[in-house]
Amino acid sequence: MHFVEVILPLSLAKTFTYRVSETEFLYIKKGMRVAVPFGKSKIYTALVIETHQNQPTLYDAKEIHQILDEKPIVNELQITHWLWIASYYMCAIGDVYRGAMPSALLLESETIISQKSTDFVDESTLSDEEYLIYQALQQQSSLKVQDISSILNKKNIFPIIQKLIDKNILVLQEEIQEGYKPKLIRYIRLRSQYDSNEGLGELLEALKNAGKQKEIVLMYFQLTASEKKPIAVKKLIETANSNAATIKALIDKDIFEEYYIQEDRVNFQGKIKEEILQLSQAQEVAFQEIKSNFVAKEVCLLHGVTSSGKTEIYIKLIENYLKQDKQVLYLLPEIALTTQLVGRLREYFGNKVAVFHSKYSNNERVEVWKQVLENSAKAQIVIGARSALFLPFSNLGIIIVDEEHEQTFKQQDPSPRYHARDASIVLAHSHKSKVLLGSATPSLETYYNSKTDKYGLVEILERFGNVSMPDIELVDLKDKYFRKKMSGHFSDILIEEITIALSLGEQVILFQNRRGFSPVVECMTCGHVPQCQQCDVSLTYHKHKNQLRCHYCGYSMANPTSCHACSSVHLTTKGFGTEQIQQELITLFPAAKIGRMDQDTTRGKFGFEKIIDSFKNREVDILVGTQMLAKGLDFDNVSLVGIMNADNMLYHPDFRAFERSFQMMTQVSGRSGRSEKRGKVIIQTYNPNHNTIQQVTNNDYVGMYKEQLYERQIYKYPPYFRLVKLTLKHRDFDKLKEGSIWLYQVFQQNLNLPVLGPEEPPISRIRNEYIRTILIKIPQNHPLQPTKKTIQKILDSFESVSQYRAIKVTVNVDFY
Ligand code: ADP
Ligand code: ZN
Ligand code: ZN
Repeated sequence: MHFVEVILPLSLAKTFTYRVSETEFLYIKKGMRVAVPFGKSKIYTALVIETHQNQPTLYDAKEIHQILDEKPIVNELQITHWLWIASYYMCAIGDVYRGAMPSALLLESETIISQKSTDFVDESTLSDEEYLIYQALQQQSSLKVQDISSILNKKNIFPIIQKLIDKNILVLQEEIQEGYKPKLIRYIRLRSQYDSNEGLGELLEALKNAGKQKEIVLMYFQLTASEKKPIAVKKLIETANSNAATIKALIDKDIFEEYYIQEDRVNFQGKIKEEILQLSQAQEVAFQEIKSNFVAKEVCLLHGVTSSGKTEIYIKLIENYLKQDKQVLYLLPEIALTTQLVGRLREYFGNKVAVFHSKYSNNERVEVWKQVLENSAKAQIVIGARSALFLPFSNLGIIIVDEEHEQTFKQQDPSPRYHARDASIVLAHSHKSKVLLGSATPSLETYYNSKTDKYGLVEILERFGNVSMPDIELVDLKDKYFRKKMSGHFSDILIEEITIALSLGEQVILFQNRRGFSPVVECMTCGHVPQCQQCDVSLTYHKHKNQLRCHYCGYSMANPTSCHACSSVHLTTKGFGTEQIQQELITLFPAAKIGRMDQDTTRGKFGFEKIIDSFKNREVDILVGTQMLAKGLDFDNVSLVGIMNADNMLYHPDFRAFERSFQMMTQVSGRSGRSEKRGKVIIQTYNPNHNTIQQVTNNDYVGMYKEQLYERQIYKYPPYFRLVKLTLKHRDFDKLKEGSIWLYQVFQQNLNLPVLGPEEPPISRIRNEYIRTILIKIPQNHPLQPTKKTIQKILDSFESVSQYRAIKVTVNVDFY
């Protein structure tokens, strides 16, 4: 008998065995997908990782339904890497598989699909079965895959659905709910009936009396003939010296049709830069050092101050690997940064740059997946957020992890809770390729690894183009309040500096960290602060909508006019957030144009990129924002950065609080003065003498590093100890308490390691679930795999205690 060993896209740690015929057995290769039945009546897309002849002993192997691929779409390096992730991060291999693949490649009987509403469907191109599905979707807006199975009266329907998705007729339901709004470019094309010589004649005849419209049509033909690529509306209007109204008239007449392409997916149209990139001397030295480090080491840290021109060094390195026909992966901490970078890289590498991230539509992700799988030139350089790590690379030369200190590289939820930087080092090892980590403020772990010679270390201590590091001035808030030199949250010095910058036509960035410190409403009579009903947090006041909102579950209520506890009408707001800063600015600088960038303004129609664009185009004078501002943006006209309050970052209950504060403040400061003029930074704080603030002011990364490293050693934290954090959740407070104590005690007795907890985290209830955490600390030299095995065993036995079974436990290895 013949069998395949498969991974199912479910939260299951095991692989499963299915039966196949001999013909199938000879056909199937590792890395192909097969549709298999699982559970009572469900069908899933499973991944074959082995073929063999060993009958399972514990169950009767079912037969597969169908083979879905003609050749592997996942390679063996990936499978090995995914198994490593499952083992290291203590998660189910099924979770890794599910997280790694674009969901369009993972159809299952429960998947909900709909018709893509925007596209015109040419019914004559559909097969009979495709047509039946299409018809059914005219009656109902969405269908489960299993409904389609009954409509067609057959089991094997994944390939048909896959075809319809490929043809852009169907979409998965989940996509429709995606909130990400990419920047779109409007294109135009002639309707197909005119797209021939006769059609053109007919058309010109019809437009005889519409001179302007005729001109545009002629220009359109000229452009398509000379350039053979899509025509952007903007370009057509410009070259024809026409206007939007004329285009609209042609669209209304059904002569032209418009369509949109996401900006970072548009084929590169400009010329590749002819002049070769000239590195400065400091950059050249760093570049050579990186190369020589790579002779002996697999990983190298490039520690270069903000605006030292790290990107240019990456470009030089990429060039090297392209010459050797290698693939390059470039990881970024934030999707919103891709557009800027894609633009920069395409100037050098043209259409060899592809983008991949989770917010792309399924079709787009599948397309990049296939390009990488085929080792296509179109995806020789892949830029992406952490999930790009799962693509089917077969020939990687280098992985660049830019802004490697960013915590967004660690996935928190759902499982797999992997760290993309660390996982990329493991991946590179199996490809025998290199990893370059870049940052102006490296994570303590990475800097430690390079100081202890595990990684290479290359430093650039000067900015590109002789620009000085910004001049940082501290403002003592206690003193300023005492001497009544504050207007709202602005010190006299900050106001003065803003006034100067604005008068010189320069731009200003103001940083107010964290929505969590946005204002709350407090009763002046009894001190009551309205709380979320489902979570253990105060509600945040949003002036714009006059609402109180919970930032954890989305609960909202109208702003109360009287206290719910004592009915007093004397209510006040406490604390401050970006919205309040914006309000105060309007009063202080009525003539200035003010923008705001935080999670509330970058959702919905004012996307992140729109705000960045308008700031770059100088339509905004002062930009107020949260930590999104700290992420590697390059603005050339910002001469002043103000940090409204440094203290709330410092006093976070988190062992990384000082390191993070240093990184955040240094990065935000780094946005100031990136061209000729020296930038200025004002930090407002109650603790001007705090070590971390002094280190920021003196640009003293090493000072921060040494101090924090010492603390980490004393208090048993990374890089000296690895942390495994367990989070337990349940709606019943007492049961959770009991269960977490049980688990804690068993760990205590069996691990012979520091175990902390069970602790109530600062926010101990979210969406009506209570939360407890347990922290296990594993010394660096302690055997890791056996410890994890023991932890897993204990978790398994916890699950087998019937009264605790309903308690949800998540494991977070190396939590950030
Ligand atoms: P970092 O990422 O280190 O903060 P960037 O790579 O963004 O710095 O570089 C800062 C600025 O200097 C950018 O505007 C970049 O275009 C410019 N720059 C850096 N190196 C060069 C170079 N060799 N030639 C021309 N411009 C450069
Ligand atoms: Zn009250
Ligand atoms: Zn809530």
